[in-house]
Amino acid sequence: MRTLILIIALTSAFLLYSGYGPALAESGSVTSQETEAATRAAGSGHAESTAPLSRSDEQWRKLLTEQQFHVTREKGTERAFTGVYWNEKRSGIYACVCCKTPLFDSGTKFKSGTGWPSFWQPINQTAVASKSDGSLMMTRTEVLCSNCGAHLGHVFDDGPQPTGLRYCINSASLDLQPRAIPEAASESEGKPEK
Ligand SMILES: [Zn+2]
Repeated sequence: MRTLILIIALTSAFLLYSGYGPALAESGSVTSQETEAATRAAGSGHAESTAPLSRSDEQWRKLLTEQQFHVTREKGTERAFTGVYWNEKRSGIYACVCCKTPLFDSGTKFKSGTGWPSFWQPINQTAVASKSDGSLMMTRTEVLCSNCGAHLGHVFDDGPQPTGLRYCINSASLDLQPRAIPEAASESEGKPEK
């Protein structure tokens, strides 16, 4: 009986390793730019396979809601004015809903009137990757999480200054981490020196 359990455990470990080994090995020192280049070169629509963090659809399904999975892993689009963040005003950092990498700062969010959260720039140069998207008989630029390949939305060149860009992002791809509201005097830390 014990031997059987051991064999099953070893087999599972082997399957896991063989499934993930190559992806992990490849991603060792991949920079965001290289990832983007690889994504462009591949042109397969499966950016997640070239992103540093790679998980199977089955694993993502366990971590995400049905809509989050559809948008981020199947390149879906939530209906305008239905997402949780299109009208969000709180200050904070918008992270990738899949891998929690910080992607956008609320300071760059603007009212676009589109019904999707819109930003004029990502939080830094490497957080998001872009890729040409020729679906729906349009040429658009898809925006992806550099770390896990999640589909976020698209970027257009009709945004406000200073960048002139409009990152049109699905709420379902994002997880807002609100900034703590600064309190004038904290009860626990506001003890007098003497
Ligand atoms: Zn991600």
